[in-house]
Amino acid sequence: MIHLQHIDLVSLSEEHYNEVNPWVSARAKSILNIFQVLYIKQNQRRFPKTSLRNASHGIHYKTRDKILNLLQSIFNNKDIINEYYLILRYTNRYLPKILKGNTDTLIIISKTLDERFSRHRTPSNAKRIYDAEFFPLIFCLNHIFDYDSKFTKKNNNPSVWNAFRLATRHATPICPYCNINSIVTISGDNSGINSSTISEIQRSTFDHFLAQSIYPYLALSFYNLVPSCYICNSTHKRETIIDAENYVHPFVDGFEDKISFVSGVELSEFLDINNYKINLKIVRNTQCEDNDYFKAIKNCELFHLLDNYNAAEEKAKFVFKKSLNISTAYIKSFIDNEFENRLTDIKTKSEFYYHYIGNTYISAEFYKFAYSKFQFDIATETGLIASIQSADFLQP
Ligand SMILES: [Zn+2]
Repeated sequence: MIHLQHIDLVSLSEEHYNEVNPWVSARAKSILNIFQVLYIKQNQRRFPKTSLRNASHGIHYKTRDKILNLLQSIFNNKDIINEYYLILRYTNRYLPKILKGNTDTLIIISKTLDERFSRHRTPSNAKRIYDAEFFPLIFCLNHIFDYDSKFTKKNNNPSVWNAFRLATRHATPICPYCNINSIVTISGDNSGINSSTISEIQRSTFDHFLAQSIYPYLALSFYNLVPSCYICNSTHKRETIIDAENYVHPFVDGFEDKISFVSGVELSEFLDINNYKINLKIVRNTQCEDNDYFKAIKNCELFHLLDNYNAAEEKAKFVFKKSLNISTAYIKSFIDNEFENRLTDIKTKSEFYYHYIGNTYISAEFYKFAYSKFQFDIATETGLIASIQSADFLQP
């Protein structure tokens, strides 16, 4: 779990809010209108279909008819109508906080609403997460916070804000959960056809940190949309109930300085046994607090990081090979050679590491390079990092 420190989260969340708020709040108001009428007319004997229809301005007739059909099925249940009305008033009132509030704000909102939602959750093995009573509300929330059919819909107009535009603005090339897979955004240039359009070719998926199926009102919340790879999002995380109190959120923190991946292989041993299988362990760094360690471990388990890094043992072996006989004198001669052969002037420690290992040495840049944390930890274990650090002829 790599901390995404390169993003100006506050201004990007503001931009996201300004773009989605007009249509989300319009939908939220329309739905609230319907429930207001339903709430007022709940003591009527007959379902007030005409009044509800008149109250549902701005909703496509197909969606409206679906909503009215669903509401008809719960019309006799006054408690549930009151509960719906209360929830929708809350989501309306706190819409700006829901859409652009930071992770702490989202925790408060989800905890407040979950007091009501959790009572309607069916056992976890059931296909449907919420019971039939709650289904009409979930349907309405999915319509308001429309991630699936509106936000992720492709659009060739680059000025229309959608998942592709958000992914582009995140400018995060590697999945922060695994630090392995590419999540770069690629768009096609349509300049030959029409200069004002682009085609969306490839983007990251967005992981709903707090699962969309459980917290449908957080489906479009900026801080709940973590750019991530398909494997982490869809194979490992899926509907796992995770929260920022038990897991690391890459907008808030990372495990770069909290834990280390350690192979336990001695360099001399590595020389002898060429088919050495890496069997990584997670070691807690000094100064890592209990809670941070606990969260980091939970993340590693969730995304199968040990299995993934063990499977990428060539990445570790490469560092092992490069660490044999390393010394500051060797570093000096390597740099001189590079300059002589390729006129590459290596001035800093990070430049040396980049040239030597092909990865980054700076934790704030881990987000840019695949396997950066893993290789850095192996390089620390082999003593390569210590040798670089003591190379005083290099700038820090
Ligand atoms: Zn990933």
